[in-house]
Amino acid sequence: MSTSALTATVDLDAIAHNLGVVRETSGGEVLAVVKADAYGHGAVPVARALLAAGAAELGVAHIGEASALRAAGIDAHITAWLHHPSADFGVAIDDDIDIALSSRRQLESVVAAATARGTAATITVKVDTGLNRSGVAVDEWADFADDLAKARASGAVVVRGIMCHLARGDEPEHPLNSAQAQRLDSAAADLRRLGAPAEVMHIANSPAALTRPDLTRDLVRPGIALYGRTPIPERGEFGLIPAMTLTAEVSLVKKLAAGQGVSYSHTWVSSSDTTIAVIPAGYADGVPRLLSGAIVARIGEETFPGVGRICMDQFVIDLGPDGGGVREGDIAELFGTGRDGGPTARDWADQIGTIDYEIVSGIGSRATRRYTGGGNGDL
Ligand SMILES: *Cc1c(COP(=O)(O)O)cnc(C)c1O
Repeated sequence: MSTSALTATVDLDAIAHNLGVVRETSGGEVLAVVKADAYGHGAVPVARALLAAGAAELGVAHIGEASALRAAGIDAHITAWLHHPSADFGVAIDDDIDIALSSRRQLESVVAAATARGTAATITVKVDTGLNRSGVAVDEWADFADDLAKARASGAVVVRGIMCHLARGDEPEHPLNSAQAQRLDSAAADLRRLGAPAEVMHIANSPAALTRPDLTRDLVRPGIALYGRTPIPERGEFGLIPAMTLTAEVSLVKKLAAGQGVSYSHTWVSSSDTTIAVIPAGYADGVPRLLSGAIVARIGEETFPGVGRICMDQFVIDLGPDGGGVREGDIAELFGTGRDGGPTARDWADQIGTIDYEIVSGIGSRATRRYTGGGNGDL
């Protein structure tokens, strides 16, 4: 059997474990966020594993992401919360997707699509309580709520949920978190008063789900924690297990004489005779070029430094004069759980001043996703 050059192995048992951590800590049922291909882990297998492990429902950004889950046969409740003006709400209604609404215009389009179909759209009200990103704006709220009450009375919508997203969830003690929750509670009270009550409410993302159980409503809405990455590194790991391990097969091993430069622009020059290896992973695969000269590869028990520029498809490591016992075809771990002392996605993120959300969700489609655990190798 041929194997791929680059593999992202996803441990579905780790994901199930992380779901358990979030449920226990938050005290809430989980709307599991599987947007962006489950943060690069593979939306369909991950969604199935999460539902099997007890996730109550799913959330994504775009309707297309939700429809793809439906097409794969996933029948759980799915909410989609980010819509461009020409988004096809008719498809969302046909696919029984809960449409989270951020404006009167969106509500109007959904009502039109539902009316044209002679059916009701299931919607969640997304309230901007202070993030100032998506969500119904403060100045539009009263009119939105009136429109919604009319739409409900006409039978065009079923009001399933009300939600907001925290601006500073990763600063658990920041007063804005409680203020946002109060604003959402008050918006929910407005809807009740108008006869359009929401059935469920949710606020908490991963950091809040792990540190602010008082913000748990009917559901919590974690993403990154399910993938085993702490949303607040200063607070520790919360018992989460990183689910993705990125490995590559060593493509080539060769000798390099002292004084030779490696890769574009020869930014690294060997100071003595050495041995180098080519790793078939580059920035087109989500290995940041900014990690040039800082990336390491773990092969067996040894960690080897990357040297020279990271290219689109490959980078080079220095095996040392004796070659470190590395052979072509050996498996190099680029990041993983870190338990064996190997590199982690957070190491990458820290080195280039970003967050590991960006690292894992950026691993490209050339990396074959392979699944372990989950009681089923063929998910
Ligand atoms: C991405 C997202 C989440 C999940 O955030 P994490 O920090 O990964 O837990 C929750 N809610 C909304 C609206 C999101 O866009």
